[in-house]
Amino acid sequence: MIAPDLNSAIASLQDLVGGAKVAVPFTGAGISTECGIPDFRSPGGLWTKNKPIPFDEFMASQEARNESWRRRFAMADEFGGAQPGRGHRALASLYRSGKVPAIITQNIDNLHQASGFSPKDVVELHGNTTFASCLDCGERYELSWVRQRMDEANGCAPDCACGGFIKTATISFGQAMPDAAMQRAQDLALACDLLLAIGSSLLVWPAAGFPLMAKRNGARLVIINREATEFDDIADLVVRQDIGTVLAPFIVH
Ligand SMILES: [Zn+2]
Repeated sequence: MIAPDLNSAIASLQDLVGGAKVAVPFTGAGISTECGIPDFRSPGGLWTKNKPIPFDEFMASQEARNESWRRRFAMADEFGGAQPGRGHRALASLYRSGKVPAIITQNIDNLHQASGFSPKDVVELHGNTTFASCLDCGERYELSWVRQRMDEANGCAPDCACGGFIKTATISFGQAMPDAAMQRAQDLALACDLLLAIGSSLLVWPAAGFPLMAKRNGARLVIINREATEFDDIADLVVRQDIGTVLAPFIVH
């Protein structure tokens, strides 16, 4: 059912959330756009102008690693100060209330943690761009350290003391999905009786499989997204209104 207007969308959502024992949110880029972080996949988005650097290129070429880091710092200068929006705060309120045990996200922007979720309860399918790690030994590095080393080395990206390459803790195209996160997401999808898919076009696999998995397991499925998705037909509620506006009534101060 597609909610015909904002008020009925909010009322239906309140009914579904109120009736659920375990609600699991699944979020995509659309929840962060009101925070000033653009959806890089959208038409005219950054990724249509600047093709992402695939993982094998990053591994094969120092210049690709330098370019990857140059882009990361250009993004930091533009979006680094982003704060959680109404959608993030509403989900954090449901988390504090005990209704939401953890959240599955395709986002890499750390805004769910910033809104109050414990980092252990944010299941990041595509990693996190706010810090870096060595691809060989896993040592964590802060972005400020990488940036300083690049400045000192004429733009050459630094390597780890172990010799491994240092990369933002994101999952690039062509990079293996994180096993622990994938398993946890599956456990959550199968444990919930309500899955809230928010701000995701549900086009990127395997991430998009989790809402489907929950629905097939008997959970109710809500899809809140500006555009239609291919799962709209099987959803119990489809909301195409502004995400922040729809979720704002769930914010508890
Ligand atoms: Zn290392």
